[in-house]
Amino acid sequence: MIDFIIVGRGLAASVIAHTLHEEKISFKIIGDQTLSKCSKVAAGIWNPIVFKRLTKSWLADDIVPFLNTFYNSCEQRVNKKLITQRQLLKPFTEEQEKNLWLKKASLELGEFLDDTIYDPNSQSLVNCKIGNQFGVVKQSGNLNMPEFLRTTDLFFKEDLVDEIFDHSKLEINSDFVLYKNIKAKNIIFCEGYLVKNNPLFNWIPLKPAKGEVLTISSPELKLKDQILNKNGFLMDLENDTFKVGATYEWQELTEDTTKKGLTELTDKLSQLITCNYTITKHEAGVRPSSVDRRPIIGLHPKHTNLYVFNGLGTKGVMLAPYFAKKFVNFYLKIEDLPKDVNIDRFYSHYDH
Ligand SMILES: Cc1cc2nc3c(=O)[nH]c(=O)nc-3n(C[C@H](O)[C@H](O)[C@H](O)COP(=O)(O)OP(=O)(O)OC[C@H]3O[C@@H](n4cnc5c(N)ncnc54)[C@H](O)[C@@H]3O)c2cc1C
Repeated sequence: MIDFIIVGRGLAASVIAHTLHEEKISFKIIGDQTLSKCSKVAAGIWNPIVFKRLTKSWLADDIVPFLNTFYNSCEQRVNKKLITQRQLLKPFTEEQEKNLWLKKASLELGEFLDDTIYDPNSQSLVNCKIGNQFGVVKQSGNLNMPEFLRTTDLFFKEDLVDEIFDHSKLEINSDFVLYKNIKAKNIIFCEGYLVKNNPLFNWIPLKPAKGEVLTISSPELKLKDQILNKNGFLMDLENDTFKVGATYEWQELTEDTTKKGLTELTDKLSQLITCNYTITKHEAGVRPSSVDRRPIIGLHPKHTNLYVFNGLGTKGVMLAPYFAKKFVNFYLKIEDLPKDVNIDRFYSHYDH
């Protein structure tokens, strides 16, 4: 009997798989890549700063070093480069903003904010609309999500069952679960916003947010391992292509691209660059955000061998490695789950 069945095939399931592997805990992944496109379309950016209030992102001091160690060890395991360290460029719109930046860079945000103010001409940015001056966020970067998902699938191919999980075929016993011919001590659901179709966990309070992104091609545009952030983002990929994002939509939760999304993204782009471009891809996905913007992790209220790992929202790349480790520590009874992410804060929503 194996230890875990992991249900899902996105960022959450992949990070859980690597984490269980590191702890030598056995598993099978059951997942179909095509049901949710969320992880596949994401830019994979991590940013330790919340610009609205110019504060540290939640737990950034712990989470940023952790994610670097985690994805570095994945890179070694799958033998591929997966993360890129990038400068995140933040143009200033007001003098006041610049002053606050300088103040915080010299005090509590020194680890994450560069204390130099840059002129647009002082860096190799070509055809970027950057305005007067800008600041640089340090310790930012991105995970190449399609490559992470592809290489994870390949590395765990012996333990991967490529199919849609049919919840009605799961048999739950007190000390094991049985799915078709797979017997496991536990099961963990990592289904993103599609947890709404899971009769065991469809009560968890997600507040999903659809997002659309573009990939553009523009030989005249130059950014090098940088992300330009100005009411949206522009990030360089390979071969003169760039990712542009992203939109937020809470009503129409399909994975279809829309004219409205396209207009919003091209408007953002007109604020970011000055040259011509060709749109090569337009994609959409639904982010599994939760009502209190924190992950939802832990045990089913009734069954002691059913777990969930969800609610990664807009920041899955940062949050998943740190909280996958917290999950495993909880499973191994090394430590309690942090209150902020423990599913037990929503047990009152469970009504069966
Ligand atoms: C446009 C956009 C841009 C984003 N940009 C960023 C970013 O820059 N940085 C960042 O950190 N985050 C970003 N995100 C958010 C990030 O993508 C999510 O936090 C993360 O990918 C969620 O991963 P997940 O595995 O929980 O969910 P999902 O990606 O939805 O994965 C769920 C997986 O489970 C599979 N599945 C579901 N049900 C079943 C079933 N019954 N049987 C089999 N398989 C099943 C699905 O097919 C899918 O593969 C972005 C999201 C979007 C939409």
